[in-house]
Amino acid sequence: MTRSIYLFLLIALLAIGAVWLATNPGTVEVAWGGYVVETSLVTLAFFTLILGAIIAILYRVFVWLKTGPGRLGGALSSRRRNRGLEALSNGMVAIAAGDADEARRAAIEAEKYLKGEPMTLLLAAQAAELNEDERATRIYYDRMAERPDTEFMGLRGLIARARTEGNLEAAIDLANRADELKPGTPWVVKELFDLHLKLRHWDEAETVLARMARGKAAKSASVKRTRSVIALERARQALKRDEKAAAFDLALSAHQLDPAFVPASVLAIRLSVPSRKRDKLIAEAWKTNPHPDLIAAIREAKAFEDEAAWLDYVRTMLAPNTPDNRETLMEEARAALAAQKWGEARKYLNRVAEIDPSSSVYRLLAELDEKANADVVAAREWILKSVDAPPDPIWICKACGRQEESWSAHCPSCDGFDTLDWKKPERGHASKADEIEAEIVQELPAPAP
Ligand SMILES: [Zn+2]
Repeated sequence: MTRSIYLFLLIALLAIGAVWLATNPGTVEVAWGGYVVETSLVTLAFFTLILGAIIAILYRVFVWLKTGPGRLGGALSSRRRNRGLEALSNGMVAIAAGDADEARRAAIEAEKYLKGEPMTLLLAAQAAELNEDERATRIYYDRMAERPDTEFMGLRGLIARARTEGNLEAAIDLANRADELKPGTPWVVKELFDLHLKLRHWDEAETVLARMARGKAAKSASVKRTRSVIALERARQALKRDEKAAAFDLALSAHQLDPAFVPASVLAIRLSVPSRKRDKLIAEAWKTNPHPDLIAAIREAKAFEDEAAWLDYVRTMLAPNTPDNRETLMEEARAALAAQKWGEARKYLNRVAEIDPSSSVYRLLAELDEKANADVVAAREWILKSVDAPPDPIWICKACGRQEESWSAHCPSCDGFDTLDWKKPERGHASKADEIEAEIVQELPAPAP
């Protein structure tokens, strides 16, 4: 209704205008360049009106094409998007294939077509990483970490960077930030645990481990072993601060978490006070894992009067639970040798040579023949045999193969955590003892022909 009134008014106005122009005719003269155009006012008005209509129609067509969905604008932006996505996928394939040049090219193209999309930042960062461009890598991951939608992913990249740069403190700060952002994400918690271990932050490592292993997992043997190692290191720290009681409690809990973990038993025995509880601790430790490292701790704790008393203790307190164990027999032999009970020593050594011979058995037999009978010829033969015999067990890093006389939480060579195992080295790896042995053989007089 309103539209028709407007149309009626417009036509009426045009009609009045046309009549007015017809009754008041005039001329218009346009001079431009060398031309002069002369026309009536009516004609000019008519042409102006036609031109205006044409411009209006063209403008409407342009707007319709540009803004309508799926029309010109949509077609253009979706083509750009497709090219961007194609570059993105090419880039990811190049990264997986390790093609650094192609990855960089694709990252630049993806950024051109998909400005500011989170994935293009990730591609750019990884391409920079592949090209070993540390500065660019850091910049891209920093940019990701600044945007809420890519912060977590950016932090992951920055943590890895900080680690490769050896900046572990910075890596911990970043991992804490990631942990606040998405609490309890498995890779973040594991990262925190590894970093605290690397930095010897034993208290923090224990806290994170408690978060990692809850419920059933906390009871697994490997978790108990790890907690035992951490408790032992905390005990050692307490000892450094001269807090003996706290150190003993921690060492004892380390021993209880894993009774077969010798270094924990050793420290618990060393720090224990004379009591029946201590005797029980010693007996239990030897029964669970008879290990030569325990001997020094037991002798130090108990302070025996003489070698005969020690031999008596080994025979009556340690041996009954593990009579046929190699280490039990070896210690009985050593104690008998020291107490000059030659016959007894030979009995134990012969038994070890029977069940589990290794170079140390033959070395003790050589010592026995030298001390008991002054039989240099027999001793020499035992020594030769010891060189060919399987080597004695030693602490060996399962990650890098390093051999150590004593256990430590981190391998002194590769810094692996809890990688030192007590075992016999592979043949062919000459140990320090073997080298010394070879020198002794040369010094001994050759048997008379
Ligand atoms: Zn190692």
